Amino acid sequence: SLTLAGFDPELAAALWLEERRQEEHVELIASENYASPLVMAMQNSVFTNKYAEGYPGRRYYSGCEHVDVAERLAVARLKTLFDCDYANVQPHAGAQANAAVFLALTTPGDTVMGMSLAQGGHLTHGSPSNFSGRHYRIVPYGLDPDTGLIDYDEMERIALASRPRMLIGGFSAYSRHKDWARMRAIADKVGALFWVDMAHVAGLVAAGVYPDPLPYAHVVTSTTHKTLRGPRGGIILARGQDEAFYRKLDAAVFPGVQGGPLMHLVAAKALAFKEALQPEFKAYQRQVVANARAMAAVIQRRGYRIVSGGTDNHLMLIDLSARPYTGKEADAALREAHITANKNSVPNDPRSPFITSGLRIGTPAVTTRGFGADDCERLAGWLCDVLDSLEAGGGALRIVRDRVREQVAGLCRRHPVYRPS
Ligand code: PLP
Repeated sequence: SLTLAGFDPELAAALWLEERRQEEHVELIASENYASPLVMAMQNSVFTNKYAEGYPGRRYYSGCEHVDVAERLAVARLKTLFDCDYANVQPHAGAQANAAVFLALTTPGDTVMGMSLAQGGHLTHGSPSNFSGRHYRIVPYGLDPDTGLIDYDEMERIALASRPRMLIGGFSAYSRHKDWARMRAIADKVGALFWVDMAHVAGLVAAGVYPDPLPYAHVVTSTTHKTLRGPRGGIILARGQDEAFYRKLDAAVFPGVQGGPLMHLVAAKALAFKEALQPEFKAYQRQVVANARAMAAVIQRRGYRIVSGGTDNHLMLIDLSARPYTGKEADAALREAHITANKNSVPNDPRSPFITSGLRIGTPAVTTRGFGADDCERLAGWLCDVLDSLEAGGGALRIVRDRVREQVAGLCRRHPVYRPS
């Protein structure tokens, strides 16, 4: 029989190397995680072969009785997880869920307020290079430059002046709690819809360790693969709205922005939501936050500035703007030491988004592989060693990088992701 290595050696090699990279490097990209072996198996199932345009019980194709079971399970579990009365599990990814919200609730040309990408928002919240920024009049809000915290008074002032149709809460790089009640009050003051994209913190919200937006938002979107630790995908949730509102959301996903749902991913979402309903999931999310706090404390003690002064969630932004190297250079040096982070703009960053003056790091992935707070403290120390050596120049970087790579290898061997070494 044909093996992958026999039929397609180039692809087999890339896969094997990626498996090794995931085992042997420390993953600090805040938006990444490791899905469980069961979730991985479900993604690799025959559900991928089935066309199922429509919704359970009202499909455009025959033979959907079994995929209907999978989708109904996903919807029911998701409603339980977030205590909501509407859930759509079909969006292929976060960006599609967000496109569906725009399509359902706004008209091109409307004024929409979202957090600026440069200050921690997401592309789909109105970046000029995204459909959202191209088809809507976007009015961005951001951070107080002195504190690095969201400036709600300024947000209110901008909302009163611009009267948006929709206000977007949610972020890709903000390490503090968001005041959903205050944002809803601002939206109400100007008659705007309030949409929260909780992609980054959905797992923390499900576990009760981050403020829940559902009591305040008209609609909530998320990805399923970040802190929620499921397969790649998107979801839309809501609570307390009427049926017409929910029908608009469903129609915006299909046929609005998508064709057939990816049923292997819908089934894998159902599985991941069952995992998220287990008591261990709460303990995992608490550890994610404890690990982030432990890393932030070491990094600050070592003299590095963290935007907003610390973290209340799974991520933080290290501000390197006072250093003689860029975010891009820091990212590259860490990569060589087998620590994967990502360069990230900091508030009022003078450098371009390709270069940047910051690093974003997060703890969901390392916590999944079993790192505790002591592991994370050691790891944060090594990360600072690499950054210090970038500044020291000479041969320091090479020596430190080689030493840290060995230390990382030891830590990774003690905490395998999928296969014990
Ligand atoms: N929303 C937020 C807040 C995100 O951070 C991201 C991804 O990083 C997305 C949406 C988009 O998700 P996807 O990459 O699945 O389209």
